[in-house]
Amino acid sequence: MVIEVKNITKNFGGISALKDVSFSINKGEIFGLIGPNGAGKTTMFNMITNIYEPTSGEIIFQGENITGIKPYKITEKGICRTYQNIRLFSQMSTLHNVMVGGHSQSHSGVFSSVFRTKAQRKEEQLLIERSEELLELVGLLEHKDTIAENLAYGQQRRLEIARALASNPSLLLLDEPAAGMNEKETDSLYDLIKTVQSRGITVLIIEHDMPLVMKLCDRITVLNFGEKLAEGTPEEIQNNEAVIEAYLGKE
Ligand code: ATP
Repeated sequence: MVIEVKNITKNFGGISALKDVSFSINKGEIFGLIGPNGAGKTTMFNMITNIYEPTSGEIIFQGENITGIKPYKITEKGICRTYQNIRLFSQMSTLHNVMVGGHSQSHSGVFSSVFRTKAQRKEEQLLIERSEELLELVGLLEHKDTIAENLAYGQQRRLEIARALASNPSLLLLDEPAAGMNEKETDSLYDLIKTVQSRGITVLIIEHDMPLVMKLCDRITVLNFGEKLAEGTPEEIQNNEAVIEAYLGKE
């Protein structure tokens, strides 16, 4: 088991964004988190990465209780995420965006002083090589010098994934990675996520593109009004009456 989400409740003032939600994800799985708008999906990512602290409940990651620890420490422990709205350094090159993602793994830093020791230069060279490898993985190596904002939309989304991978996560959280993508971009996203999985990385994905979710995920949890409505394989979820009623029938 990579992560156990145990009885998470999150209240924002009078709003209950999550109510006693539990699920666990096995190593190497692609696990989907789906449900209507406002169901609490992004709030769950914010619980796991501790952008907000849960009102109650616990998050256990690789056997360790990580509830309430600082977000940067959670990244160091091996959880990394992308966001619903693209958050790149838009004026920086594609390569530098990935290098910044790998920065927490590097002690010399990407943009530190020009007076570097030999060891620091070597470390930076390794960071460049590793970032280039990730760009190759996401199909962007030929664009490594392109300024991020000049990339096509689907490329920017893939760059976000490369940047998240740069910190060497064992669990990758993807928040609506296919949003705004055309069919071809979605197909290449599917291939990319499968490749990530084949490298032993566990994936938790929030996504509204149901054909993609059903093709990609090993298991799925459905949220509705902050509560867990169902959990199962794509086939079980597609045939679940309550899920059809609350969500799938309305897509
Ligand atoms: P979508 O599919 O539209 O992204 P979602 O399932 O990700 O929706 P959340 O964004 O988690 O839903 O929101 C769940 C509920 O919590 C909503 O009612 C939302 O307004 C509320 N909420 C989320 N974050 C906050 C916050 N920081 N302050 C107050 N309310 C919040």
